[in-house]
Amino acid sequence: MSNFRTETVCVQGGYTPGNGEPRQIPIVQSTTFKYATSEDMGKLFDLEANGYFYTRLQNPTNDYVAAKLAELEGGTAAMLTSSGQAANFYAVFNIANCGDHVVSCSTIYGGTFNLFSVTMKKMGIDFTFVSPDCTDEELEAAFRPNTKAVFGETIANPALTVLDIEKFAKAAHSHGVPLIIDNTFATPVNCRPIEWGADIVTHSTTKYMDGHGCAVGGAIIDSGKFDWLAHAEKFPGLCTPDDSYHGITYAEKFGKEGAFITKCTAQLMRDFGSIQAPQHAFYLNLGLESLHVRMPRHCENGQAVAEFLANHPKVSKVNYCGLPGDKYYEVAQKYLPNGSCGVVSFELKGGRKAAEVFMSRLKLAAIETHVADARTCCLCPAASTHRQMTDEQLEAAGIPAGLVRMSCGLESKYDLIDDIAQALEAVE
Ligand SMILES: *Cc1c(COP(=O)(O)O)cnc(C)c1O
Repeated sequence: MSNFRTETVCVQGGYTPGNGEPRQIPIVQSTTFKYATSEDMGKLFDLEANGYFYTRLQNPTNDYVAAKLAELEGGTAAMLTSSGQAANFYAVFNIANCGDHVVSCSTIYGGTFNLFSVTMKKMGIDFTFVSPDCTDEELEAAFRPNTKAVFGETIANPALTVLDIEKFAKAAHSHGVPLIIDNTFATPVNCRPIEWGADIVTHSTTKYMDGHGCAVGGAIIDSGKFDWLAHAEKFPGLCTPDDSYHGITYAEKFGKEGAFITKCTAQLMRDFGSIQAPQHAFYLNLGLESLHVRMPRHCENGQAVAEFLANHPKVSKVNYCGLPGDKYYEVAQKYLPNGSCGVVSFELKGGRKAAEVFMSRLKLAAIETHVADARTCCLCPAASTHRQMTDEQLEAAGIPAGLVRMSCGLESKYDLIDDIAQALEAVE
């Protein structure tokens, strides 16, 4: 790993061309790779040699971009997946199986909550959800003898809570299990969870990393710090021989630095196949090349919009951890000193009706099921993603009917504020 700063790694990390080779990462648009002898290929299948044989498992384009992400997060190994959903599923399923248990923060992305509480539950994995604001005792009480991991989001989508990563890491480690952090909203430009004790980092690269709303994707990065063999009885998948790979024991053969990602690729990618297309990895890399330039602008626009809304008479509440007085301001000062993200949520005094009128009058912010791209967009969860819920159920889930989530893009903050101001004029 290099000692270059984040900005330099965003631009040049992961791929260093040799003499006469392409300056930009090549898109290896090939499903398969050729070998001279069956023996050569056999070594790859046995994980005895490094190389490519089939793009469902690995492709050079993906590996260049994964290497950049590993460097950005300060990890030792990384892999790309077809989506953020696949990344979180693989990250957890790589170490938790039927009969196991995971502690998860309750304020997580709705898709992840569904994955954990419905789909993975059907696979026999139990989750206990704890508030990001829980006490040490409440967190402690969530663990069971069969707990295999702790999960949370640096900045939660859409709740915008900020996680005390050190607290969750300490609890996980005292129970001999890793902390998995979904760092999608903060990106490594604003927070590097591994420096605060996280063991595995995941991303929906669909969001800020791509940043242009053009390619769905995900990633998993391993810190290389978790000592699987020291807790071998909890992690038989990593610490006992894998019969499907001629008795390889991942933690012994690939060490702390490589075991998690090698197993995840060799078993889960082989069997489930949620690989990112090399073309998408190329788009992702284009996004990464400017991530360090874009994030500060997203934050500047988010901050300006949040401040404007907080001072507006028709607005009853604003959630943005960059506002002094926000519930997460202090914790954000610690983990996100350079800014959080461009996503702001707020409530209008007129409730759901006012939110609908307001959004319909916006000219710049489009109504979209998306966040974190160059174009400002917004969504009223009660009228869209959480539409099936009654106002009472919404309130219980912490999503007031009039809540608007706005993802501030890269436009002029003055134009965004003018647009919001004129739309608020139309609201009763
Ligand atoms: C969007 C999102 C996901 C899911 O990612 P997809 O790329 O849409 O599959 C997971 N976690 C967070 C925090 C997200 O915002």
